[in-house]
Amino acid sequence: MVDSTSPSAFTAAVVGAGPIGLAAAAHLVRRGLGVEVFEAGSGIAAHLQSYSHVRLFSPWRYNVDSAARALLEGTGWAMPDPEGLPTAGELVERYLGPLAAHSALQPHIHFGYRVLDISRVGFDKLKTAGREHADFVLQVQTAEGVKEVRAQAVIDASGTWGQPNPMGIHGLFALGELAAQEHIAYGMPDILGSGRSSYAGRSVMVVGAGHSAAGNLLALAALAQDEPGTRVHWAVRGKDLRKIFGGGSADGLPARGALGTRLRDLVERGLIVLHQGFGVQAIERDGGRMTVRAIDPTLAPVEGVDEIIVAAGSRPDLSLARELRTRLDPWIESTEALADLIDPNLHSCGTVRPHGHKELAHPEPGFFAIGAKSYGRAPNFLMATGYEQARSVVAAIAGDWVAADQVQLDLPQTGVCSVDLSEPPTGQTYAAPGCCGGPVVQDTSACCALDEAEKAKGSGGCGCTSAAAPTASKAVSLQVAPAKTSCCG
Ligand SMILES: Cc1cc2nc3c(=O)[nH]c(=O)nc-3n(C[C@H](O)[C@H](O)[C@H](O)COP(=O)(O)OP(=O)(O)OC[C@H]3O[C@@H](n4cnc5c(N)ncnc54)[C@H](O)[C@@H]3O)c2cc1C
Repeated sequence: MVDSTSPSAFTAAVVGAGPIGLAAAAHLVRRGLGVEVFEAGSGIAAHLQSYSHVRLFSPWRYNVDSAARALLEGTGWAMPDPEGLPTAGELVERYLGPLAAHSALQPHIHFGYRVLDISRVGFDKLKTAGREHADFVLQVQTAEGVKEVRAQAVIDASGTWGQPNPMGIHGLFALGELAAQEHIAYGMPDILGSGRSSYAGRSVMVVGAGHSAAGNLLALAALAQDEPGTRVHWAVRGKDLRKIFGGGSADGLPARGALGTRLRDLVERGLIVLHQGFGVQAIERDGGRMTVRAIDPTLAPVEGVDEIIVAAGSRPDLSLARELRTRLDPWIESTEALADLIDPNLHSCGTVRPHGHKELAHPEPGFFAIGAKSYGRAPNFLMATGYEQARSVVAAIAGDWVAADQVQLDLPQTGVCSVDLSEPPTGQTYAAPGCCGGPVVQDTSACCALDEAEKAKGSGGCGCTSAAAPTASKAVSLQVAPAKTSCCG
């Protein structure tokens, strides 16, 4: 355990014992480097544990890191069925638990250690000369008070799930949201299990349009079948449901595609009452119930709501690294170099071209944010992406630049990749979205192999950039265009 004195050997501090933090620790161990993992929760993967009932949409073959697997197989551990879909709880129980218990890792994982701040020993953010030679110092909240620990490299894998977005349309709390907290859950409560009594026979509104919202809605619809009187409202701020309902059978992860397909069916059968274009502005308490108002005054408020579940994404805690020199995208709050690849204003792909230490580097040598945190506010992070990030970043920390530069990852395609996420002009509809996915070879502006192949032929690509805009850049303004770039695939 590092303390306030300099460690004698090289030590990397890993913030967070989620799947990506533990993968980074496994890669460090495999390379013979020292590692100390600091986890705020009382056990591993606190975020996954909070939705342990949720069945993941990616099968085991995408969910296990290569270095972790090598460590585990040395203990006689057997890889679960590669095509099986674990719940988040099973991922912890069958993979992350045994990994954290491995003798090479277990003594170096510190639970109940919340990292508060990271800096360089003797250097505030302003001071330049010699800072790259200074150790990192982490201030950590523990049961015994705040401690300082030192390390020569820091990998921040603290995720974003701990900072859910509020439900207000402005990105702020809706008026009345804070006062109604006892009737609002954020994320994915266990609707069919421990949370059942909160929702059975009640009028429940789900706010959000991503996979978590979809999972909540499917669980509520199942509850409504068993528990008469359960009513399900769904508020989404957008009006275009193509992205929400997803790629269906074109999705490379069938379970992910099926989420949207099942949801569409429930909406069409009237079992879920959909409120489109419903950006929530205010919640008013009406006796024991709530009235939810949209910012659009032409939309009728939803009255008689008992409980609200907000699944509107999450945002990174940027306070940890405020004393470090980081380069973040101003609005995605991801590592800056990743932003063009993942900006949901430009991409609906969900698959992102493979990337490694170069894209994840900051002006502060030795500091990397990886995992869900590296995506900032952008959704669609996949564990497989994070495992490759961990491998490349640890190779860079070890000075193995050949391995660090060889980023290889073949992600499943989402079946959704449209360039223009704006609403179609009145009276016009856009064509169904095409597909994206698979590996990218060279073209850094491409999000996938299909996109790259199209660009090589001189076209605008398969959906991540328009013909009028040859590179995928945040500078590209999205204009409403009656004919959008056709997608390959
Ligand atoms: C509902 C849901 C379903 C998903 N399904 C899939 C799927 O099927 N397939 C897939 O590939 N991806 C899926 N994802 C996306 C992603 O892979 C997961 O979010 C994954 O858990 C991200 O791993 P991570 O290690 O980066 O972060 P996290 O799992 O969020 O772990 C971060 C850890 O850091 C700890 N921490 C936070 N702050 C601090 C601090 N200050 N100090 C110390 N510790 C701290 C937390 O307690 C936590 O244990 C899903 C995400 C969600 C939310």
